[in-house]
Amino acid sequence: MHVFQKKSELVSYVNQSKGSRGLVMTMGALHQGHLALVREARKAADTVIVSIYVNPLQFGPNEDFDAYPRTLDADLALLEEAGVDAVFAPSDAEIYPREPLVRIDPGPVATMLEGKTRPGHFAGVLQVVNKVLNLVRPDYAFFGQKDAQQLALIRTMVADLDMPVEIHSVPIQRDTAGLALSSRNSYLSEIERTNALALSQALKDGVEAGYEHGTIPEIIRAAVADISENPKLKLDYLTLVDPQTFMPLQPDFKGIGLLVVAAWVGQTRLIDNMEVSIG
Ligand code: AMP
Repeated sequence: MHVFQKKSELVSYVNQSKGSRGLVMTMGALHQGHLALVREARKAADTVIVSIYVNPLQFGPNEDFDAYPRTLDADLALLEEAGVDAVFAPSDAEIYPREPLVRIDPGPVATMLEGKTRPGHFAGVLQVVNKVLNLVRPDYAFFGQKDAQQLALIRTMVADLDMPVEIHSVPIQRDTAGLALSSRNSYLSEIERTNALALSQALKDGVEAGYEHGTIPEIIRAAVADISENPKLKLDYLTLVDPQTFMPLQPDFKGIGLLVVAAWVGQTRLIDNMEVSIG
């Protein structure tokens, strides 16, 4: 497995690679969620390239950029075992030799939900996704449904800018108790980890209410109860959106909605989502 720190090394490798390329972008601290993306890439593409980069542009000033787990040696061992061809693990100076002047404007969806609590987050995400896509020029790029709003915005960017890449989404990987795998789960104490199960439980109760022909307010009420009844959790948002556009659903909507939740468990902010059949 090749490991590149420099853009020039990565680009030379890409230029001489044969057949199709698949890209998985990560911030490292890899877990089975990331490896599910790698497996899909391995099935689809001749050459699989994984990037590991904690992108400062997508963290707010009071967020966990410094604390974010960095486990490069363990990550490389996992990727080697997963049959990855090349890893791109650049430094900040390599990615941003100076403050970028030209920025991606992610549009109105980036001001809602995750973007409302984390202003500038999606602009930072799209900036780095764009850069790494330009370096790797993959046929396919793989993103997790875990970060559903990010996935929707990447799809919108690729469509609006006619970017020559096929975006593939991969279902959320969970632990046996239902907690969505996340690098940030490493911040949780054992008790917090138990409390964090309320997020997936809330979503499951929302899905259940949907099966029972619940209306949108009934679905949300069923789901919110799991979180508001737990004093150890602080709800940020829990709502139903259109899975493609991320716009809020009208009260009379029927079809598949995406129930999205974000909550703090102690100091740790977690997100999760599930599809709900409405009506
Ligand atoms: P991150 O390293 O958190 O930026 O995530 C890198 C990629 O892995 C993103 O496309 C995430 O959506 C995806 N990912 C993270 N956690 C999971 C999970 N539990 N299941 C599926 N995909 C995930």
